[in-house]
Amino acid sequence: MSQLENIKSGNTTQNGAENKSYDLTVIGSGPGGYIAAIRASQLGFKTALIERYPVLGGTCLNVGCIPSKALLDSSEHFHNASHKFAKHGILLENLAVDLPQMMNRKNGVVQQMNAGIEYLMKKHNIEVIGGHATFEDKTTLKITKDKEEQFIKSNHFIIATGSKPLSLPGIETDGQRIITSTEALNLSEIPKHLMIIGGGVIGLELGSVYARLGAKVSVIEYMEGLVPNMDRTMAKELQKSLKKLGFEYYFKHKVKTVSRKGKTVTVKAENSKGEECCIEGDYCLVAVGRKPYTENLGLANIGIELDDRGRIIVDKQLQTNVKGIFAIGDVINGAMLAHKAEEEGVFVAETLAGQTPHINYNLIPGVVYTWPEVASVGQTEEELKTKGINYKVGTGPYKANGRAVASMDTDGLVKILAHADTDEILGVHIIGPRAADIIGEAVLAMEFRASAEDISRISHAHPTFSESLKEAALDATGKRALNF
Ligand code: FAD
Ligand code: NAD
Repeated sequence: MSQLENIKSGNTTQNGAENKSYDLTVIGSGPGGYIAAIRASQLGFKTALIERYPVLGGTCLNVGCIPSKALLDSSEHFHNASHKFAKHGILLENLAVDLPQMMNRKNGVVQQMNAGIEYLMKKHNIEVIGGHATFEDKTTLKITKDKEEQFIKSNHFIIATGSKPLSLPGIETDGQRIITSTEALNLSEIPKHLMIIGGGVIGLELGSVYARLGAKVSVIEYMEGLVPNMDRTMAKELQKSLKKLGFEYYFKHKVKTVSRKGKTVTVKAENSKGEECCIEGDYCLVAVGRKPYTENLGLANIGIELDDRGRIIVDKQLQTNVKGIFAIGDVINGAMLAHKAEEEGVFVAETLAGQTPHINYNLIPGVVYTWPEVASVGQTEEELKTKGINYKVGTGPYKANGRAVASMDTDGLVKILAHADTDEILGVHIIGPRAADIIGEAVLAMEFRASAEDISRISHAHPTFSESLKEAALDATGKRALNF
């Protein structure tokens, strides 16, 4: 009897070896998957985690959040050393970039975190199985590694298989000069001219890395401005800041072709008037979004439904149309963010344990790790206008903030959107130093349905960047102190 026949017939042993069966099996070890596995194990489920890559952590840890932030930090140090240190009275000679060392440090950061997740899996008694998972039937998974197959049984599954870079019709990346974010995180030289298709989060973060290291950066964006779903005040400020860094923009341009001859890459694009332009550089990063990853997962074998964008359809419990099989993170609808995937992992594990968890999708913060950083939570001004909600605006500019002046980081502002009648905070948008950290206070306030006045009455340490949030709250309630 084969292992599959054996496991299907309900036999628990084969050739003396025990067939594997679990209460819960999680497919994919990204932030959604590994956090789900930990919570499930804490709640007493016998849990397995399946990962097709040799290392744990998924997109976020291996080719996403962490390596990109490591390079953003390194390149920011270089940029400051080149442009700001002298003003601080720090003089450097022979400043240069050692790109291989920068990449080595980044790889070291990733490896350290890989080991951390491995340790956590052991600590929580989670069985990690390496290989590609495919549904054989609704309770059986085939796991293939190096042409070897094994089958496991599980009462429940969480699909957390994430996403992959999207390309454009007729445009093929070659992994060398026409690249996705994955290769852009590992270049062996600093591009002379990096062309980026897509003015979204990936384009701006990775564009910042190479612009700071000396590359010319051109962004070719289909829409009218950067990051189309961002509050427009923030997007315009960011556009100005990145222009100062050397970014050039081709807005309302639709890319038609990308071709390569030797070391030269040519992008042909058409503007809204139908005029064609031709841009030449040595690298082209295609960053036009990501698509859910469900390849060879066997979803058709068990009738799991997908939407028109290939995302797995789930209900309010994050359960697919097949009972007992759940899906979370980038592979389902919603923001493609690591912390959204994590919340969903915990949500499913706790739901399976009979608890009644809750996720407030309106309060998942978003951050763009450029400099200045942009961070936001809740609704944008444009969304409030569309919905006809009566709102008021309060702003706190960084140029009025003592800490910002002291550190020469005065670009940016905090913008609070509050209900005009109730003063409840409806959205907070920050562009400026430490925005990614300050947004936490806004999320907390909004989780407790705070008013702008509530924030304005909380003592904020002086001098801190967070005082700009207080200043915006004072402004929203008509009590702005620092009028410049
Ligand atoms: P993933 O992290 O994609 O993990 C899915 C895992 O499933 C992968 O390891 C994959 O190998 C495995 N898998 C897939 N199919 C199978 C199968 N059949 N069998 C076994 N294993 C399988 N988000 C943020 O919040 N902050 C950031 O700063 C940020 N920066 C980013 C920077 C870049 C360059 C990129 C590309 C993304 C970034 N993101 C960021 C987005 C973030 O990485 C994703 O939202 C997050 O990783 C999604 O988590 P996930 O668990 O759904 O899937
Ligand atoms: P994105 O959706 O953020 O941006 C894609 C951009 O490409 C959009 O501005 C879109 O208008 C533009 N575009 C689409 N088709 C185009 C075309 N034919 N020509 C020119 N422009 C075109 O996607 P991304 O930057 O690839 O990022 C993918 C996902 O990864 C995002 O959903 C994001 O949430 C996640 N991510 C998050 C972070 C973070 O949280 N800091 C960082 C990186 C990535």
